Amino acid sequence: MTRRAEPLRTCVGCRSRAAKSDLLRIVVERSATGEIRRLIPDLRGRMPGRGAHLHPDPECLALAERRRALGRALRVEGPLDLEPLREAVMTKRSLREGTKTMSAR
Ligand SMILES: [Zn+2]
Repeated sequence: MTRRAEPLRTCVGCRSRAAKSDLLRIVVERSATGEIRRLIPDLRGRMPGRGAHLHPDPECLALAERRRALGRALRVEGPLDLEPLREAVMTKRSLREGTKTMSAR
């Protein structure tokens, strides 16, 4: 075993700990006016700023949404656009499950 132990992060949805690489890092993208705040997935894990971690699982996203855990973790108030996140979760999930779900796109 030469592999180094991976850092653990807590999923904001189900609150369980998982290896960082198994979780999706989420950051806030602000519009120029600061009014529209979208939550976007940081797929390369390189975006600056505060991040939250979530399993790429629609259930975890739903949990986080219901408990408003994302806004809390990212220290933002008010409405958040979760659409980009929802898409990323669905995409990542279908990638994981293989080619079972064939997309026409
Ligand atoms: Zn989770």
